[in-house]
Amino acid sequence: MSAVALQQDVEAGVERVRERMTRACQRAGRDPDSVTLVAVSKGQPVEAIRAAYAGGLRHFGENRIQEAVPKIEAARNAGVEATWHLVGHLQSNKAKVAASAFDVIHSADSAKLLARLDGAAPAPRDVLLQVNVAAEPQKQGAAPDAVETLVEAAREAANLRLRGLMTIAPMATDPEDVRPVFRDLRELAERFSLEELSMGMTDDFEVAIEEGATLVRVGRAIFGERTT
Ligand SMILES: *Cc1c(COP(=O)(O)O)cnc(C)c1O
Repeated sequence: MSAVALQQDVEAGVERVRERMTRACQRAGRDPDSVTLVAVSKGQPVEAIRAAYAGGLRHFGENRIQEAVPKIEAARNAGVEATWHLVGHLQSNKAKVAASAFDVIHSADSAKLLARLDGAAPAPRDVLLQVNVAAEPQKQGAAPDAVETLVEAAREAANLRLRGLMTIAPMATDPEDVRPVFRDLRELAERFSLEELSMGMTDDFEVAIEEGATLVRVGRAIFGERTT
């Protein structure tokens, strides 16, 4: 694809997602500024990130450290000044790399990982606790009843700023089916007075916004289907 065509495609994707976000906010009686669009650029080349940046996006998400670290560097060198979000699973032995490459870690899900991130962070890091709300066996994230202990651990960590909770909803053919998952995450966050709710992806971000999402993580609806 030519650079111009890529730019037009990505900008159109950004525009469509923004419109859908605005309509979801209107339905829920929410201020559109209360929801941040995190463009999940995994599997996308730096040119696509630049195109989204030119289209006005300032938050990008990646899910694999190895792929992300050189891309973030290349994007910076290409003039992209963004906030970088780690949305994928993080092993504790990669905590140090993650803490220096990313601004916000969405996937903290164990006391061990929190301790590693706290020790590794060059400056205070924003973290969210990933919760496996639907208790899917194959999925990462803390069990809902483990959240209280993790909230305490994160709040005691000098180098971590606990911002909120994150979840990945189960696959569903109808996004309405996962509404209760988003609602449960919101109620859990309210219990601990946590402000940020990272929930909602291409297939379900509108329902997530209706249920209170403050960060939506959207890939395919912006960039098209991933080829890698
Ligand atoms: C890939 C990914 C997304 C974006 O998914 P899309 O379906 O492309 O919108 C969001 N969150 C996480 C954790 C992901 O891994």
